[in-house]
Amino acid sequence: LEANFCFCEYCAGEFRNWLKLKYGSLELINQTYGNVVWSGEYSSWEQITPPFGTNPHAWLNPSMMLDFNRYASDNMIKFVKMQSEIIGKNCRDIQITTNTWFCQNMPDFYNTFEELDFVSYDNYPVTKIPEDKEELYSHAFHLDLMRGIKQKSFWIMEQLSGGLGCWMPMLHAPRPNMIKGYSLQAFAHGADTVVHFRWRTAATGAEMHWHGLIDQSNVPGRRLYEFEDLCKTAEKLGMISGTKIKSEVAILYSSDQEYAFKIQPQTESMYYFEQLKLFHDAFTKFGMNIDIINWSANLDNYKVVVAPTIYVTDSLVTKNLYEYVKNGGTLILTNRSGVKNEYNNYSMEMLPTVFAELIGAKVTQYDPIGNSEQKIKMADGSQFICTQWCDILETTTANVLASYADSFYQGNPAIIQNKYGDGTTYYVGTVGKKALYYDLIQRVLNECNLEYFSELPYGVEITTRESERDKYYFVFNNSDNACEVTLEKNMKDVLSGDLTNELKLQPYDMRILQTQ
Ligand SMILES: [Zn+2]
Repeated sequence: LEANFCFCEYCAGEFRNWLKLKYGSLELINQTYGNVVWSGEYSSWEQITPPFGTNPHAWLNPSMMLDFNRYASDNMIKFVKMQSEIIGKNCRDIQITTNTWFCQNMPDFYNTFEELDFVSYDNYPVTKIPEDKEELYSHAFHLDLMRGIKQKSFWIMEQLSGGLGCWMPMLHAPRPNMIKGYSLQAFAHGADTVVHFRWRTAATGAEMHWHGLIDQSNVPGRRLYEFEDLCKTAEKLGMISGTKIKSEVAILYSSDQEYAFKIQPQTESMYYFEQLKLFHDAFTKFGMNIDIINWSANLDNYKVVVAPTIYVTDSLVTKNLYEYVKNGGTLILTNRSGVKNEYNNYSMEMLPTVFAELIGAKVTQYDPIGNSEQKIKMADGSQFICTQWCDILETTTANVLASYADSFYQGNPAIIQNKYGDGTTYYVGTVGKKALYYDLIQRVLNECNLEYFSELPYGVEITTRESERDKYYFVFNNSDNACEVTLEKNMKDVLSGDLTNELKLQPYDMRILQTQ
């Protein structure tokens, strides 16, 4: 389901009702939105319309636009609720869900599934691994976000079964082992059920080129045989059922940031999800389990929390983050934090406003450099490329970890670390390439004394699921190249029963191991 925008009279009326409930009066809307700018004050409710037209959204009032996105999400959720109430009244002892995916207009996932029994997701990982090694492609990110919605296991309602296409040009056919490997990757990240879509490629209708396990000819082929092999493997994985994924690391997600970044792009090539993915990729490189959770979630169980670009703030979330660090947590904040209040307006304070005390510094200037590249220098002399955004920091209580090596702010702090209460906050004032995050996250993991894998080959992902008694390691080669992984100690391969610490993995191979 998508929270698509609609501009019809009915939806305009619903939007006005939503605003009436939230603000009560036009005066308060005018004041909150700052409608005096460009003489935009409303003098009657009928003047409020959805943001139709072809002008860039950034030309429209950002406060109104954020509210419209929230309204579109609420409206979709109302529809889900109406449907599930009908089903609930007419059917007994059933579980109710709906499927979601990463689409253009994403609803708030947490509210969408609040009253549903479990999350289900349409899982279509890439069928061609990008040649650019900086590109972030792993669906581990999507799967961790889906598991984090209700913080429990979930379903894949549609799983990759063949080449994709229908409303868009057709994409690459899945490489050998992808049908099987990607399904096992979903299990590794908390899916308890994986349903392939579809059995047979449709011979008619809108989804004709969305390939199934069998082509439209109805003749069994490579993809079906691979699926058969997957089913034989899945049959032997009963011991995984009921096991849980325990993570020491969490990344916070908020639909408000996603909306606000789309409404007002910050700089060329800067996207909210990319910020989250860069951190997720770094923890993945070190074989860590990662929960991606609601920005307002309870953080007590996490050793490290990353809150990328808390651009639109929320007073309860801010308080929660201060408490978390004060009580000994390690928090990573980034550029574009504390920029807006909950109405998507600036507050007249120096950045990062509400987070200044937590990071022990102020942002005195910033430089949105877009696709340009610059360098930063770490305290040990190593250099990394940075891009997109450069916060120029002035520390109050923080230590400097990296400074800019270029431009008029050469020598100014770019990455800092601050002690607050019993905990630590890191602030990354810029955006790096993957290497910067590997360096930074390894430093954080060491300082927090967390166990990790330091030598995993490119594309290899290790996650764990555990019961009270056993712990299972899922080792997945999410790349086009065969590789070898050496483990520190022998483990038992749950499928073959062999004891081993040397794994030879073909592309998209999954090995499931059990500690002895
Ligand atoms: Zn409508």
